[in-house]
Amino acid sequence: MTKLKPQPGIMQIKPYVGGASSIAGVANVIKLSSNENPFGPSPDAIDAFQRAAHELHRYPNTDHSTLRAAIAKLHGLDPDRIICGVGSDEVITFLCQCYSGPENEVIYTEHGFSMYKISALAVGATPVMVPERERMVDVDEILKAVTERTSLVFVTNPGNPTATMVSHAELARLARELPDNVLLVLDGAYAEYVDGFDGGAGLVEKYANVFMTRTFSKMYGLGGLRIGWGYGAAEVIDVLNRVRGPFNLSMAQQAAAEAALHDRAHVARCLSENTRLRSWLAEALAELGVPSDTSCANFILARFANADEATACNDFLQEKGIIVRLVAGYGLPNCLRITVGDEASCRRVAHMIGRFKGGAPGSRLMLLDEDRLDGEDQA
Ligand SMILES: *Cc1c(COP(=O)(O)O)cnc(C)c1O
Repeated sequence: MTKLKPQPGIMQIKPYVGGASSIAGVANVIKLSSNENPFGPSPDAIDAFQRAAHELHRYPNTDHSTLRAAIAKLHGLDPDRIICGVGSDEVITFLCQCYSGPENEVIYTEHGFSMYKISALAVGATPVMVPERERMVDVDEILKAVTERTSLVFVTNPGNPTATMVSHAELARLARELPDNVLLVLDGAYAEYVDGFDGGAGLVEKYANVFMTRTFSKMYGLGGLRIGWGYGAAEVIDVLNRVRGPFNLSMAQQAAAEAALHDRAHVARCLSENTRLRSWLAEALAELGVPSDTSCANFILARFANADEATACNDFLQEKGIIVRLVAGYGLPNCLRITVGDEASCRRVAHMIGRFKGGAPGSRLMLLDEDRLDGEDQA
Protein backbone atom coordinates (compact mmCIF):
# COMPACT_ATOMS: atom_id res chain seq x y z
CA MET A 1 0.00 0.00 0.00
CA THR A 2 1.19 3.51 -0.76
CA LYS A 3 0.32 6.59 1.23
CA LEU A 4 -1.77 7.87 -1.66
CA LYS A 5 -5.18 8.92 -0.45
CA PRO A 6 -8.12 9.32 -2.83
CA GLN A 7 -10.58 12.14 -2.19
CA PRO A 8 -13.44 11.48 0.25
CA GLY A 9 -16.29 9.54 -1.36
CA ILE A 10 -14.23 7.98 -4.15
CA MET A 11 -13.74 4.63 -2.42
CA GLN A 12 -17.50 4.38 -1.76
CA ILE A 13 -18.16 4.27 -5.50
CA LYS A 14 -19.22 0.89 -6.79
CA PRO A 15 -18.03 0.95 -10.40
CA TYR A 16 -20.81 1.05 -12.99
CA VAL A 17 -21.58 -2.34 -14.49
CA GLY A 18 -22.84 -2.17 -18.06
CA GLY A 19 -25.14 -4.70 -19.68
CA ALA A 20 -23.28 -7.91 -20.55
CA SER A 21 -22.62 -8.40 -24.25
CA SER A 22 -21.34 -11.96 -24.47
CA ILE A 23 -21.97 -15.41 -23.05
CA ALA A 24 -19.11 -17.89 -22.79
CA GLY A 25 -19.47 -20.54 -25.47
CA VAL A 26 -22.38 -18.91 -27.32
CA ALA A 27 -21.68 -17.46 -30.77
CA ASN A 28 -24.77 -15.51 -31.79
CA VAL A 29 -26.09 -13.82 -28.71
CA ILE A 30 -29.15 -11.61 -28.69
CA LYS A 31 -28.25 -8.60 -26.59
CA LEU A 32 -31.26 -6.98 -24.98
CA SER A 33 -29.47 -5.64 -21.93
CA SER A 34 -28.40 -2.08 -22.74
CA ASN A 35 -31.38 -0.38 -24.36
CA GLU A 36 -29.55 -0.01 -27.65
CA ASN A 37 -31.40 0.75 -30.88
CA PRO A 38 -31.68 -2.63 -32.66
CA PHE A 39 -31.68 -0.88 -36.04
CA GLY A 40 -28.46 1.01 -35.36
CA PRO A 41 -27.79 4.61 -36.35
CA SER A 42 -28.86 6.35 -39.52
CA PRO A 43 -26.68 5.37 -42.52
CA ASP A 44 -26.06 9.11 -42.88
CA ALA A 45 -24.40 9.13 -39.45
CA ILE A 46 -22.12 6.28 -40.50
CA ASP A 47 -21.19 8.18 -43.69
CA ALA A 48 -20.45 11.33 -41.72
CA PHE A 49 -18.30 9.35 -39.31
CA GLN A 50 -16.33 7.83 -42.18
CA ARG A 51 -15.83 11.20 -43.86
CA ALA A 52 -14.49 12.58 -40.58
CA ALA A 53 -11.71 9.98 -40.77
CA HIS A 54 -9.98 12.18 -43.40
CA GLU A 55 -9.54 15.01 -40.90
CA LEU A 56 -8.17 13.11 -37.94
CA HIS A 57 -5.07 15.30 -37.73
CA ARG A 58 -7.22 18.40 -37.14
CA TYR A 59 -8.35 19.43 -33.70
CA PRO A 60 -12.12 19.61 -33.45
CA ASN A 61 -13.90 22.91 -32.95
CA THR A 62 -14.41 23.69 -29.31
CA ASP A 63 -17.87 25.23 -29.30
CA HIS A 64 -19.92 22.58 -31.15
CA SER A 65 -21.77 25.45 -32.81
CA THR A 66 -23.05 23.52 -35.84
CA LEU A 67 -24.33 20.63 -33.75
CA ARG A 68 -25.90 22.95 -31.19
CA ALA A 69 -27.61 24.90 -33.97
CA ALA A 70 -29.04 21.69 -35.42
CA ILE A 71 -30.31 20.51 -32.02
CA ALA A 72 -31.80 23.94 -31.30
CA LYS A 73 -33.57 24.11 -34.65
CA LEU A 74 -35.10 20.65 -34.30
CA HIS A 75 -36.36 21.20 -30.76
CA GLY A 76 -37.12 24.93 -30.94
CA LEU A 77 -34.48 25.81 -28.33
CA ASP A 78 -31.90 28.56 -27.83
CA PRO A 79 -28.58 27.23 -29.21
CA ASP A 80 -26.60 29.38 -26.76
CA ARG A 81 -28.14 27.47 -23.86
CA ILE A 82 -27.09 24.01 -25.08
CA ILE A 83 -23.95 22.21 -23.92
CA CYS A 84 -22.65 19.02 -25.56
CA GLY A 85 -20.84 16.25 -23.72
CA VAL A 86 -19.29 12.83 -24.10
CA GLY A 87 -22.62 11.16 -23.56
CA SER A 88 -25.10 12.68 -21.16
CA ASP A 89 -22.94 10.97 -18.53
CA GLU A 90 -20.38 13.73 -18.97
CA VAL A 91 -23.03 16.43 -18.60
CA ILE A 92 -24.17 14.75 -15.36
CA THR A 93 -20.54 14.80 -14.20
CA PHE A 94 -20.27 18.55 -15.01
CA LEU A 95 -23.44 19.23 -13.02
CA CYS A 96 -22.09 17.46 -9.94
CA GLN A 97 -18.64 19.05 -10.27
CA CYS A 98 -20.07 22.55 -10.57
CA TYR A 99 -22.96 22.43 -8.12
CA SER A 100 -22.06 19.85 -5.47
CA GLY A 101 -19.27 19.18 -3.03
CA PRO A 102 -18.65 17.69 0.40
CA GLU A 103 -21.19 20.09 1.95
CA ASN A 104 -24.02 18.96 -0.29
CA GLU A 105 -26.68 16.31 -0.73
CA VAL A 106 -27.71 15.01 -4.13
CA ILE A 107 -31.20 13.55 -4.35
CA TYR A 108 -32.13 10.75 -6.72
CA THR A 109 -34.98 8.28 -6.69
CA GLU A 110 -35.13 4.64 -5.59
CA HIS A 111 -34.92 3.09 -9.04
CA GLY A 112 -32.95 5.94 -10.61
CA PHE A 113 -29.90 5.68 -12.86
CA SER A 114 -26.73 4.66 -11.00
CA MET A 115 -24.61 7.42 -12.57
CA TYR A 116 -26.25 10.04 -10.31
CA LYS A 117 -24.91 8.35 -7.19
CA ILE A 118 -21.51 7.70 -8.75
CA SER A 119 -21.10 11.32 -9.89
CA ALA A 120 -22.26 12.65 -6.51
CA LEU A 121 -19.78 10.46 -4.60
CA ALA A 122 -17.01 11.44 -7.02
CA VAL A 123 -17.25 15.06 -5.83
CA GLY A 124 -17.55 14.13 -2.16
CA ALA A 125 -21.27 14.92 -1.95
CA THR A 126 -23.77 12.76 -0.07
CA PRO A 127 -26.17 10.84 -2.32
CA VAL A 128 -29.70 10.71 -0.90
CA MET A 129 -32.06 8.11 -2.32
CA VAL A 130 -35.80 8.73 -1.93
CA PRO A 131 -38.48 6.03 -2.32
CA GLU A 132 -40.66 5.69 -5.40
CA ARG A 133 -44.30 4.63 -5.25
CA GLU A 134 -45.00 1.43 -7.16
CA ARG A 135 -42.12 2.12 -9.56
CA MET A 136 -43.22 5.71 -10.09
CA VAL A 137 -41.28 8.81 -9.08
CA ASP A 138 -43.03 10.35 -6.07
CA VAL A 139 -42.75 14.15 -6.04
CA ASP A 140 -43.81 14.42 -2.39
CA GLU A 141 -41.00 12.10 -1.31
CA ILE A 142 -38.50 14.24 -3.20
CA LEU A 143 -39.77 17.47 -1.65
CA LYS A 144 -39.71 15.88 1.81
CA ALA A 145 -36.05 14.93 1.41
CA VAL A 146 -34.85 18.44 0.53
CA THR A 147 -32.66 20.04 3.20
CA GLU A 148 -30.50 23.14 3.36
CA ARG A 149 -27.64 21.03 2.03
CA THR A 150 -29.48 19.81 -1.08
CA SER A 151 -27.92 21.12 -4.29
CA LEU A 152 -29.16 18.79 -7.03
CA VAL A 153 -32.20 16.60 -7.71
CA PHE A 154 -32.05 14.02 -10.51
CA VAL A 155 -35.23 12.65 -12.07
CA THR A 156 -35.21 10.30 -15.07
CA ASN A 157 -38.32 10.71 -17.20
CA PRO A 158 -39.28 8.30 -18.69
CA GLY A 159 -37.60 6.25 -15.98
CA ASN A 160 -34.89 3.64 -16.37
CA PRO A 161 -35.30 0.78 -15.50
CA THR A 162 -38.98 1.43 -14.69
CA ALA A 163 -40.07 2.82 -18.13
CA THR A 164 -42.79 4.77 -16.32
CA MET A 165 -43.39 8.53 -16.64
CA VAL A 166 -44.11 11.30 -14.19
CA SER A 167 -47.09 13.37 -15.31
CA HIS A 168 -46.46 16.87 -16.57
CA ALA A 169 -48.53 18.30 -13.72
CA GLU A 170 -46.41 16.51 -11.11
CA LEU A 171 -43.14 17.57 -12.73
CA ALA A 172 -44.36 21.14 -12.93
CA ARG A 173 -45.27 20.99 -9.25
CA LEU A 174 -41.79 19.71 -8.40
CA ALA A 175 -40.16 22.52 -10.39
CA ARG A 176 -42.42 25.08 -8.72
CA GLU A 177 -41.99 23.87 -5.16
CA LEU A 178 -38.27 23.13 -5.10
CA PRO A 179 -36.23 25.93 -3.48
CA ASP A 180 -34.62 28.00 -6.22
CA ASN A 181 -31.09 27.26 -5.00
CA VAL A 182 -31.63 23.58 -5.88
CA LEU A 183 -31.04 22.53 -9.48
CA LEU A 184 -33.61 20.04 -10.80
CA VAL A 185 -32.09 17.84 -13.52
CA LEU A 186 -34.55 16.09 -15.83
CA ASP A 187 -32.80 13.20 -17.57
CA GLY A 188 -34.59 12.74 -20.88
CA ALA A 189 -32.51 9.86 -22.24
CA TYR A 190 -35.73 8.20 -23.47
CA ALA A 191 -37.73 11.34 -24.32
CA GLU A 192 -37.54 10.53 -28.05
CA TYR A 193 -39.67 7.44 -27.46
CA VAL A 194 -42.61 9.54 -26.28
CA ASP A 195 -44.14 11.20 -29.30
CA GLY A 196 -44.60 14.92 -28.69
CA PHE A 197 -42.81 14.97 -25.30
CA ASP A 198 -40.37 17.89 -24.89
CA GLY A 199 -38.22 16.12 -22.30
CA GLY A 200 -38.84 18.94 -19.87
CA ALA A 201 -37.59 21.77 -22.12
CA GLY A 202 -40.71 23.80 -21.33
CA LEU A 203 -39.89 23.70 -17.63
CA VAL A 204 -36.30 24.75 -18.37
CA GLU A 205 -37.71 27.81 -20.16
CA LYS A 206 -39.84 28.63 -17.15
CA TYR A 207 -37.44 27.99 -14.25
CA ALA A 208 -33.74 28.93 -14.15
CA ASN A 209 -33.14 26.05 -11.72
CA VAL A 210 -34.39 23.34 -14.07
CA PHE A 211 -31.98 21.57 -16.44
CA MET A 212 -32.56 18.88 -19.08
CA THR A 213 -30.11 16.21 -20.28
CA ARG A 214 -30.49 14.29 -23.55
CA THR A 215 -28.52 11.68 -25.45
CA PHE A 216 -27.72 10.29 -28.89
CA SER A 217 -27.20 6.85 -27.32
CA LYS A 218 -30.75 5.53 -27.45
CA MET A 219 -33.11 6.56 -30.25
CA TYR A 220 -30.23 7.75 -32.47
CA GLY A 221 -28.40 4.46 -32.03
CA LEU A 222 -25.02 6.07 -31.27
CA GLY A 223 -24.27 4.69 -27.80
CA GLY A 224 -20.85 3.57 -28.97
CA LEU A 225 -19.86 7.05 -30.12
CA ARG A 226 -20.71 8.91 -26.85
CA ILE A 227 -22.65 12.11 -27.53
CA GLY A 228 -25.10 13.80 -25.19
CA TRP A 229 -26.28 17.30 -24.48
CA GLY A 230 -27.88 19.48 -21.87
CA TYR A 231 -30.19 22.48 -21.90
CA GLY A 232 -30.44 25.04 -19.14
CA ALA A 233 -30.39 28.67 -18.13
CA ALA A 234 -27.61 30.78 -19.72
CA GLU A 235 -26.01 31.20 -16.30
CA VAL A 236 -25.88 27.43 -15.71
CA ILE A 237 -24.48 26.73 -19.19
CA ASP A 238 -21.77 29.33 -18.60
CA VAL A 239 -20.81 27.60 -15.34
CA LEU A 240 -20.72 24.12 -16.91
CA ASN A 241 -18.63 25.30 -19.87
CA ARG A 242 -15.88 26.35 -17.48
CA VAL A 243 -15.18 22.74 -16.49
CA ARG A 244 -15.81 21.21 -19.92
CA GLY A 245 -12.65 20.19 -21.74
CA PRO A 246 -12.32 22.36 -24.87
CA PHE A 247 -12.00 19.34 -27.16
CA ASN A 248 -14.40 17.00 -25.39
CA LEU A 249 -16.16 16.00 -28.62
CA SER A 250 -14.23 14.90 -31.70
CA MET A 251 -15.28 16.03 -35.17
CA ALA A 252 -16.41 12.47 -35.86
CA GLN A 253 -18.79 12.62 -32.90
CA GLN A 254 -20.14 16.02 -33.84
CA ALA A 255 -20.57 15.14 -37.52
CA ALA A 256 -22.26 11.80 -36.87
CA ALA A 257 -24.62 13.31 -34.31
CA GLU A 258 -25.64 16.10 -36.66
CA ALA A 259 -26.27 13.69 -39.53
CA ALA A 260 -28.29 11.43 -37.24
CA LEU A 261 -30.41 14.35 -36.15
CA HIS A 262 -31.27 15.24 -39.75
CA ASP A 263 -32.44 11.77 -40.76
CA ARG A 264 -36.00 12.12 -39.51
CA ALA A 265 -37.20 9.17 -41.62
CA HIS A 266 -34.88 6.83 -39.71
CA VAL A 267 -36.08 8.19 -36.37
CA ALA A 268 -39.72 7.83 -37.43
CA ARG A 269 -39.14 4.23 -38.50
CA CYS A 270 -37.33 3.33 -35.26
CA LEU A 271 -40.05 4.99 -33.20
CA SER A 272 -42.90 3.18 -34.92
CA GLU A 273 -41.13 -0.18 -34.82
CA ASN A 274 -40.39 0.29 -31.12
CA THR A 275 -44.00 1.16 -30.39
CA ARG A 276 -45.35 -1.81 -32.36
CA LEU A 277 -42.91 -4.40 -31.03
CA ARG A 278 -43.04 -3.06 -27.48
CA SER A 279 -46.77 -3.60 -27.23
CA TRP A 280 -46.49 -7.01 -28.87
CA LEU A 281 -43.80 -8.06 -26.39
CA ALA A 282 -45.61 -6.67 -23.36
CA GLU A 283 -48.83 -8.46 -24.34
CA ALA A 284 -47.01 -11.69 -25.09
CA LEU A 285 -45.32 -11.66 -21.69
CA ALA A 286 -48.54 -10.70 -19.90
CA GLU A 287 -50.21 -13.75 -21.49
CA LEU A 288 -47.46 -15.83 -19.92
CA GLY A 289 -48.10 -14.37 -16.48
CA VAL A 290 -45.23 -11.87 -16.65
CA PRO A 291 -46.79 -8.42 -16.30
CA SER A 292 -45.14 -5.04 -16.81
CA ASP A 293 -46.09 -1.40 -16.35
CA THR A 294 -46.98 0.37 -19.58
CA SER A 295 -43.61 1.27 -21.05
CA CYS A 296 -42.81 4.76 -22.29
CA ALA A 297 -39.31 3.79 -23.46
CA ASN A 298 -37.46 1.19 -25.57
CA PHE A 299 -37.52 -1.54 -22.96
CA ILE A 300 -39.93 -3.44 -20.76
CA LEU A 301 -39.56 -4.04 -17.05
CA ALA A 302 -40.85 -7.60 -16.78
CA ARG A 303 -42.10 -8.54 -13.31
CA PHE A 304 -41.75 -12.05 -11.98
CA ALA A 305 -43.27 -13.66 -8.89
CA ASN A 306 -40.11 -13.13 -6.86
CA ALA A 307 -36.35 -12.62 -7.07
CA ASP A 308 -35.67 -16.35 -7.44
CA GLU A 309 -37.92 -16.67 -10.45
CA ALA A 310 -36.40 -13.56 -12.08
CA THR A 311 -32.88 -14.88 -11.54
CA ALA A 312 -33.82 -18.34 -12.79
CA CYS A 313 -35.38 -16.86 -15.93
CA ASN A 314 -32.28 -14.73 -16.50
CA ASP A 315 -30.12 -17.87 -16.26
CA PHE A 316 -32.43 -19.80 -18.58
CA LEU A 317 -32.33 -17.02 -21.18
CA GLN A 318 -28.54 -16.86 -21.00
CA GLU A 319 -28.35 -20.58 -21.71
CA LYS A 320 -30.43 -19.89 -24.78
CA GLY A 321 -28.12 -17.08 -25.91
CA ILE A 322 -30.29 -14.15 -24.83
CA ILE A 323 -28.91 -11.43 -22.56
CA VAL A 324 -31.37 -9.30 -20.61
CA ARG A 325 -30.70 -7.16 -17.55
CA LEU A 326 -31.01 -8.14 -13.91
CA VAL A 327 -32.00 -5.00 -12.03
CA ALA A 328 -31.66 -6.09 -8.40
CA GLY A 329 -29.03 -3.35 -8.08
CA TYR A 330 -31.80 -0.85 -8.86
CA GLY A 331 -34.00 -2.15 -6.07
CA LEU A 332 -36.04 -4.37 -8.40
CA PRO A 333 -34.91 -7.93 -7.61
CA ASN A 334 -38.07 -9.57 -8.98
CA CYS A 335 -37.71 -7.89 -12.39
CA LEU A 336 -35.80 -8.24 -15.63
CA ARG A 337 -35.29 -5.29 -17.95
CA ILE A 338 -35.67 -6.36 -21.54
CA THR A 339 -34.76 -4.02 -24.40
CA VAL A 340 -37.24 -4.02 -27.27
CA GLY A 341 -35.13 -5.55 -30.03
CA ASP A 342 -35.96 -6.17 -33.66
CA GLU A 343 -38.86 -8.46 -34.48
CA ALA A 344 -36.86 -11.69 -34.47
CA SER A 345 -35.34 -10.87 -31.06
CA CYS A 346 -38.72 -9.99 -29.57
CA ARG A 347 -40.20 -13.23 -30.81
CA ARG A 348 -37.26 -15.23 -29.56
CA VAL A 349 -37.22 -13.74 -26.06
CA ALA A 350 -41.00 -14.15 -25.70
CA HIS A 351 -40.77 -17.73 -26.95
CA MET A 352 -38.00 -18.56 -24.49
CA ILE A 353 -39.76 -16.93 -21.55
CA GLY A 354 -42.77 -19.02 -22.58
CA ARG A 355 -40.66 -22.14 -22.38
CA PHE A 356 -39.26 -21.03 -19.04
CA LYS A 357 -42.79 -20.56 -17.72
CA GLY A 358 -43.72 -23.99 -19.04
CA GLY A 359 -46.14 -22.76 -21.68
CA ALA A 360 -46.33 -25.09 -24.66
CA PRO A 361 -44.75 -23.59 -27.78
CA GLY A 362 -47.42 -23.01 -30.37
CA SER A 363 -49.99 -22.07 -27.74
CA ARG A 364 -51.77 -18.73 -27.47
CA LEU A 365 -48.55 -16.81 -27.24
CA MET A 366 -47.45 -17.80 -30.70
CA LEU A 367 -50.79 -16.83 -32.19
CA LEU A 368 -50.85 -13.45 -30.57
CA ASP A 369 -50.93 -10.75 -33.19
CA GLU A 370 -49.12 -13.12 -35.52
CA ASP A 371 -50.87 -11.78 -38.59
CA ARG A 372 -49.94 -8.24 -37.87
CA LEU A 373 -46.34 -9.10 -37.12
CA ASP A 374 -46.03 -11.16 -40.26
CA GLY A 375 -47.83 -8.64 -42.39
CA GLU A 376 -45.42 -5.80 -41.90
CA ASP A 377 -42.07 -5.51 -43.52
CA GLN A 378 -39.07 -5.22 -41.32
CA ALA A 379 -37.04 -2.05 -41.82
C1 LIG B 1 -28.82 5.44 -21.37
C2 LIG B 1 -29.05 6.50 -20.37
C3 LIG B 1 -28.38 7.71 -20.45
C4 LIG B 1 -27.46 7.99 -21.59
O1 LIG B 1 -26.17 8.03 -21.22
P1 LIG B 1 -25.09 8.43 -22.31
O2 LIG B 1 -23.93 8.79 -21.46
O3 LIG B 1 -25.63 9.60 -23.06
O4 LIG B 1 -24.87 7.24 -23.17
C5 LIG B 1 -28.64 8.67 -19.49
N1 LIG B 1 -29.52 8.45 -18.52
C6 LIG B 1 -30.21 7.31 -18.43
C7 LIG B 1 -31.22 7.14 -17.36
C8 LIG B 1 -29.98 6.30 -19.35
O5 LIG B 1 -30.67 5.15 -19.26
